[in-house]
Amino acid sequence: MKNLIFCLLIVFTVHFSNSQTDPINVIVFGAHPDDCDIDTGGTAILLARMGHRVKFVSLTNGDAGHYNKGGGALAKVRIAEAKEAGQRFGVEYTVLDNHDGELMPTLENRLKVIREIRKWNADVVIAPRPNDYHPDHRYTGILIQDAAYMVIVPNIAADTPPLKKNPVFLYSEDSFQRPNPFSPDIVINIDTVFDQKIYAMAAHESQFFEWLPWTSGNLDKVPKDEKERLVMLANWRSSAPNKTAIATLQKWYGEKASEVKHTESFEICEYGKQPTDEELKKLFPMLNTQ
Ligand SMILES: [Zn+2]
Repeated sequence: MKNLIFCLLIVFTVHFSNSQTDPINVIVFGAHPDDCDIDTGGTAILLARMGHRVKFVSLTNGDAGHYNKGGGALAKVRIAEAKEAGQRFGVEYTVLDNHDGELMPTLENRLKVIREIRKWNADVVIAPRPNDYHPDHRYTGILIQDAAYMVIVPNIAADTPPLKKNPVFLYSEDSFQRPNPFSPDIVINIDTVFDQKIYAMAAHESQFFEWLPWTSGNLDKVPKDEKERLVMLANWRSSAPNKTAIATLQKWYGEKASEVKHTESFEICEYGKQPTDEELKKLFPMLNTQ
């Protein structure tokens, strides 16, 4: 009898400790190589440092995002930049071979998204909302919404085993107001990793130091020196919480919220699992440690 109790105790302990240490699997979708980085880079670094698994997926290869390069040559540059960024973030980075500026919410793309979510055994899926100035961003939001729920349906994309549970689907932050503004349910303090996020984002040289400054007429203001470039990017991409985010930040961080300088925010999508606050603390363990 004593032996039986001892064995049961061991089984319980092993099972319990596994359930505490199982990595959380997060998959982030963006339209272009650099979108996931901007929206969730700090959160990804925090999760990766805790031993959790994060994957960034760009649904297009970025082959339209430049003023004097394009097509396959540009796609190669952007894939290499994404690979370097992935290493700096500590995440896996996949770039799908769809043309930039031409993404459509087709059945073929929906099935690709479903397979990516299933293969990552995702607990959390993050994507932009379908309200956005850029058609690729909008259709990324639609494609991920269309995949929510279908990821558990065995007869859809039947070559890839379905998930046993629907993941939590989250929208990343945006500032668009119509038809309704972004409403954060989770706000993550990324102060401790903000510099690392900027360094990782800087891997997308063709974007942050060439293409995007060119589109705003500021190409001549981009410094040559690497350290000065990081300062420029940090000032440009500083992500101080707005009024709405501050209220949610207080819910998760209490009094410490007033000291937070940089955040990333997420809204729960109605189409996936609807998590409780306790479940969110398990999926985002940094909410328990800061
Ligand atoms: Zn984009």
